[in-house]
Amino acid sequence: MDRDLVPFKKMIEDNGNKFTIQKRTILKTIMESSVHLNAKEIYEKVKGENIGLATVYRNLKEFQELGIVKELNVNGISYYEMKIFSKKPLHIHLKCYECDNIIDMDSSGIDIEYLKLNKMVEEKNNMEIFDIDIMFIGLCSRCKEERYGETNKV
Ligand SMILES: [Zn+2]
Ligand SMILES: [Zn+2]
Repeated sequence: MDRDLVPFKKMIEDNGNKFTIQKRTILKTIMESSVHLNAKEIYEKVKGENIGLATVYRNLKEFQELGIVKELNVNGISYYEMKIFSKKPLHIHLKCYECDNIIDMDSSGIDIEYLKLNKMVEEKNNMEIFDIDIMFIGLCSRCKEERYGETNKV
């Protein structure tokens, strides 16, 4: 088995479930994707391995409950990305108004501000925050270029 998958195997088995070949395949698909996939898109990629859509939904739910994947809801559709052992665990998303893509923004350097915001909100409201989900809505660089042309690039 792929070394990358070892920690997930442990989490799933500790939770009393089997780490099936289907789960491995689905996790790998999410890990290797450079874009955020929804359940149907994941299914399209794994159906060749004899994995049904119901299995995809069921396994995604389990991954989400265990905190392995993160669900991003955009216009009523759930998209998935790795939540733990991800190369960029903390990042801000941009939803492009034009092409509907969800893009991971380069938030390096502002990560610390992110954590400060978390702390501030917690203290102000006397709550405990587990996760932050920030989604900006706007134009991605490609659509921005298409709309305004190359010259206006900042
Ligand atoms: Zn776009
Ligand atoms: Zn993301």
